[in-house]
Amino acid sequence: MTEKGKLIVISGPSGAGKSTVVNTAIQGREDMCFSTSVTTRSPRPGEVDGRDYFFITPERFREMVERNELLEHAEYVAHSYGTPRAYVEQQMEKGFNVILDIEVQGARQVREKMEEAVLVFILPPSMEELRRRLENRGTDSADVIEARLIRAREELKEAPLYDYVIVNDKLEEAASEFAAILKAERCRTAQRLQFINNF
Ligand code: ADP
Ligand code: 5GP
Repeated sequence: MTEKGKLIVISGPSGAGKSTVVNTAIQGREDMCFSTSVTTRSPRPGEVDGRDYFFITPERFREMVERNELLEHAEYVAHSYGTPRAYVEQQMEKGFNVILDIEVQGARQVREKMEEAVLVFILPPSMEELRRRLENRGTDSADVIEARLIRAREELKEAPLYDYVIVNDKLEEAASEFAAILKAERCRTAQRLQFINNF
């Protein structure tokens, strides 16, 4: 039987470089997949429905919450975000490690439901650098950037909930730290019990 995959939760301020670090670290790996969230916010230029998010109406979002179709959900800067439960469960059953890029309230819900989930917090080297990255990314208006910076300070307070913290200063180093976390998690005794018992 295939070993069940792990759930890996990534959080950190928007613009910290979560997608960049994780994508760099898992390039070419076939044991990893991303969960696509649902959100009520509008697509940014270049974002594709079903790839970046499932863009849904607030009514549909409420319906998913009521039907318990979301593993976790939260409000973030005036919009709702959530993780569809079915995809995550199916992929883990097939042996894939599933990555959730979600904010801290959602991470807390995952921790409560799945104690064995691995929680990784990704930080920028400073608030000034975070502002620079958000501005350079060019995907958010000035108002939204201000709201994200205020939210970033709040999110930082939640970092102690996480198992690991990566400071994304040099991209290559941050990506190699993320890869090292995945490697260490594979060596956990709980992961190797089957091997030990059959030795
Ligand atoms: P998040 O997923 O956390 O919102 P992104 O991965 O979209 O963040 O990164 C935000 C911006 O910062 C992007 O323009 C990205 O290219 C840039 N970036 C990411 N990591 C670094 C880094 N280590 N050094 C400089 N710029 C970075
Ligand atoms: P963005 O609008 O920049 O794509 O995402 C805003 C924030 O929402 C980010 O911190 C991102 O990690 C978080 N987010 C994205 N999808 C989900 C989700 O399904 N659940 C939760 N709780 N947060 C999410």
